[in-house]
Amino acid sequence: MKFETVFDDFGSLVFSEKVMKERLPYPVYAQWKQTMTKDNSLDRNTADAIAHAMKGWALENGATHFTHWFQPLTGSTAEKHDSFIEPDENGEPLLRFSGKSLIKGEPDASSFPSGGLRATFEARGYTYWDCSSPAFIKDNILCIPTVFVSYHGESLDKKAPLLKSIEAVDKAATRLVNLLGDKDVKHVNPVVGLEQEYFLVDMELYKKRLDLRFTGRTLFGSNSAKTQELDDHYFGSIPSRVSDFMKEVNTELWKLGIYVKAEHNEAAPAQFELAPVFTNCNVAVDQNLLVMDILRKISSKHNFACLLHEKPFAGLNGSGKHNNWSLCTDTGQNLFSPGDKPAENIRFLVFMCAFIQAVDEYPELLRMAASNAGNDHRLGANEAPPAIISIYLGEYIEELLLNISSKEVKRTQKENDLNPILGLSYIPRDNTDRNRTSPMAFTGNKFEFRMLGSSISASTVNIVMNTMIAKTLDEISNKLEGIKYIQDVRDKSLELCKKIIVDHSRIIFSGDGYSNEWVEEAKKRGLPNIISYIESIPSLIEEKSIRLFTDYKIYTDKELHARYEILNEDYCKTIEVEVRTLLQIIKREILPLLVKEIQQLLPCLGLTGCPNYIQNRYQELTHLMNDLDTKQELLHQTFEHVLTINNSHDRGIENYYKIAPLMKEIRETIDSYEKISSEEIYNLPIYGELLFGNR
Ligand code: ADP
Ligand code: MG
Repeated sequence: MKFETVFDDFGSLVFSEKVMKERLPYPVYAQWKQTMTKDNSLDRNTADAIAHAMKGWALENGATHFTHWFQPLTGSTAEKHDSFIEPDENGEPLLRFSGKSLIKGEPDASSFPSGGLRATFEARGYTYWDCSSPAFIKDNILCIPTVFVSYHGESLDKKAPLLKSIEAVDKAATRLVNLLGDKDVKHVNPVVGLEQEYFLVDMELYKKRLDLRFTGRTLFGSNSAKTQELDDHYFGSIPSRVSDFMKEVNTELWKLGIYVKAEHNEAAPAQFELAPVFTNCNVAVDQNLLVMDILRKISSKHNFACLLHEKPFAGLNGSGKHNNWSLCTDTGQNLFSPGDKPAENIRFLVFMCAFIQAVDEYPELLRMAASNAGNDHRLGANEAPPAIISIYLGEYIEELLLNISSKEVKRTQKENDLNPILGLSYIPRDNTDRNRTSPMAFTGNKFEFRMLGSSISASTVNIVMNTMIAKTLDEISNKLEGIKYIQDVRDKSLELCKKIIVDHSRIIFSGDGYSNEWVEEAKKRGLPNIISYIESIPSLIEEKSIRLFTDYKIYTDKELHARYEILNEDYCKTIEVEVRTLLQIIKREILPLLVKEIQQLLPCLGLTGCPNYIQNRYQELTHLMNDLDTKQELLHQTFEHVLTINNSHDRGIENYYKIAPLMKEIRETIDSYEKISSEEIYNLPIYGELLFGNR
């Protein structure tokens, strides 16, 4: 007897390697496989054969259309659908999908931002199949992951540079592993696991909040007494509506071949988390984009709105996307995992040190890549955590590394530990002493980068990580190249590690990353603390970044400047939508509500014996009303002025330093009103309802 389980459908909507093996003639499969290991490129016949098999599989699974699925520079993903069906020369319907359509497409994509890389006369952009990420079916459409490039070959998307960075770190890491004596390794892959946080809000309530609908976050409202009370009451249990939603999310993601588990996250009410099992970097980034897509889609089916914004609610925990990153050889070894043999431990040390150096050399790039306008509300400025990049290694490894570089022995280390090579064998594998306040934490065999905002594609962060590590690995290799005996290579490696630790230990920090003391301490150490996202954008076109990215052919100088433009524009657009939304809410909702409140009091006011309470309430409400009116006028004026600034970066700076504080002040006024508003009149959902309305 055969049992049916929900897992029977696992991967059913993915044109996976398994499906290819089953459906392709062996030589075609073998050719594809060689392309995957970069040993060969795909020829036209092979592409035709794959396209044919893909079409058959897609039609059997209900697909009617196909699309090149790509990742333009704003928004998450884009698609242009083409039907499989077309008339043949006799007008009879023919189901067609050629190798050519698989490999190359020309979406009408002139509306996507290119930062000036595509003048209108050459507005064409082309998509090319990325055969290293599997095709899948979504909403009866066969989606083919592609890169998106201009007529002149400049990349217009987030995937093309990611693929280049993966190749760069593959090459550099393989070279170093080989030099350190492991000649069997042919490739090293960055692998990534992306944890996704999000909020769920009841759809009916969501619809009543223009701010949530237009900007993804609340522009007013606060964590009131009511919320706190409910908080205590409901903590811990998952409402059944939510668990139904999660069940369906899991099932849909399983069908897409994503090993995932949606769970409750205890940090804030209505906030949840989902973590798929790590996979290779390129696929992990694609899968995360799908995860966000599925979350949105399934949530509306269950009458929820899924909020992926970094800070939907002021005063409550924000949402991030933890980027767990490590390097894995094609022989199955994790390079950030200390081994049992001394040789493996030296390799571990070398890779750790390369990582430390890279993070210390490019913290600004990491900070930028992890951010957007939304993340400004989650970190930096007055928020904890500050936007300072540091690395947490765990006490044991930290002391061990510091011991390598000094004669001084720390008390907590055992005698053996003086020898880093031996000492590493003793690291408790399940080293769970986690520091939750660190932006970059070593967690056993991977680095967990927690600064990344929840709504942001993980692509750029991984491009930066892969490329900067490639560079430091290569620097080490350059110094080891040509040394004859392996023992000398190892001795030299240790020596290099010592120097790296001495030079870069300032980036290592294990204390409370949320404390004010750390901000002071980091300053003394000379670590950058870039307050806002807009101020981090220029790091992209700094001399050292341009050198890094052009040396490794990830971006050209021109592409970097184009991206710089787009990021600035994008930031300004976000703020502009927020300002317009807020002004609309004030004029069309809040002020009229205040009018109603005041009108209710008017009949009594002139009369003798009108109670003090009414007179005081009248005073208070009129004061709030005038205050709000004045502030919205000021916001309006300032905004009009800021809009006249042509340079998008300068405009962004003004938005951050002039507009954002005004919006905050307005928020305070509205919140003061909300607190004393009459329940009968105030009809906008408050925090308590939004956060607990999903029951
Ligand atoms: P946590 O305790 O932080 O929840 P988990 O073990 O659940 O840690 O892992 C979080 C994420 O990290 C998951 O997506 C997991 O697959 C991924 N992960 C685990 N090991 C590695 C690794 N070596 N490299 C990259 N990601 C990894
Ligand atoms: Mg985590």
